[in-house]
Amino acid sequence: NHQVRLAERPVGLPGPEVWQHTTEAVPEPGEGRFVVRISHISLDPAMRGWMNAGRSYVPPVEIGEVMRALAAGEVVASAHQDFAVGDVVSGTFGVQDYAESDGRGVQKITPTADVPIETYLAVLGMTGMTAYFGLFDVGALREGETVVVSGAAGAVGSVVGQLAKLKGCRVVGIAGGPEKCAWITDELGFDAAIDYRAEDVKKALRAAAPDGVDVYFDNVGGEILDIALTRIRRGARVVICGSISNYNATEVPPGPKNYMSLLVNRARMEGFVVFDFVDRYAEAGRAMAGWLAEGRLHSREDVVDGSVDDFGDVLLRLFRGENTGKLVLRLAR
Ligand code: NDP
Repeated sequence: NHQVRLAERPVGLPGPEVWQHTTEAVPEPGEGRFVVRISHISLDPAMRGWMNAGRSYVPPVEIGEVMRALAAGEVVASAHQDFAVGDVVSGTFGVQDYAESDGRGVQKITPTADVPIETYLAVLGMTGMTAYFGLFDVGALREGETVVVSGAAGAVGSVVGQLAKLKGCRVVGIAGGPEKCAWITDELGFDAAIDYRAEDVKKALRAAAPDGVDVYFDNVGGEILDIALTRIRRGARVVICGSISNYNATEVPPGPKNYMSLLVNRARMEGFVVFDFVDRYAEAGRAMAGWLAEGRLHSREDVVDGSVDDFGDVLLRLFRGENTGKLVLRLAR
């Protein structure tokens, strides 16, 4: 059982020195437990936060601990009454080849030729739940509104934009590079895309959303958030989903300068953590699966083949913007 453990807390971008590679015997399941052979590991920007010491919405990964990760795989041994050998499951199994589990927080999944296992880490997994509850509940989206989403060609952002289109909204995506911008407009049906690496975002946003923004779904924070705040309409909702532009910052980044726009526009800005909606995952899962089956929602997974030893390198792709859609490491055996 190959594993990747946190060897030290990173400063800035996590280099190879922060990971320790260990090998142990494949676990035997204790009473009431089962063992999963992991086939797919989800790469999430939030992992960078879990590596930091200090208080957050989940405890940090401790030094020496197997790196926390959502993953999916097959049950290969079981002493648990609800999980049988051959069941395909997803859960927080960590960056390793095999995980032992008591079943808490584990979902059984039913991949098919049309809906492969990686989709359960994407639109049908935490990514999709984040888009759904962030947009519909926190963002309180109404039909016909104007929605702007950053990180728009990423896992969450690409789903947010599609869900807003399903609700008849005007959707503007902000993403890095011409390929990503072309994908979200030509394939996903966004009304406009802004390439923040090449364009003046402020000008481009004024042109793409001339009447202002009702919902700004923020995945990146920093300067782009500040610009979006200058374009919000009266009663707008600014959804703080993430702030990837700051995750590797070595100094405390300056806060948004334009927050007084919230007062002027009687708007609100609200952060959320998807786990708070766990009681309603089934509702969102049904809705998303339905739209997927109808072809009204597309799940794109950026699947990298490798071993757990590649985890550290693959994680960095998120911070370099090298992924389009949901980044997944598929373990070759
Ligand atoms: P993505 O698939 O969107 O991958 C990250 C993307 O962020 C990259 O592809 C890159 O795209 C962009 N990016 C990287 N660095 C920067 C930067 N400095 N400035 C602007 N953009 C940057 O990841 P996810 O969809 O999984 O996550 C998106 C956001 O949602 C993250 O902030 C994450 O923390 C958050 N999240 C929050 C949850 C919650 O419960 N609140 C749950 C899940 C995710 P590009 O090429 O366009 O720059």
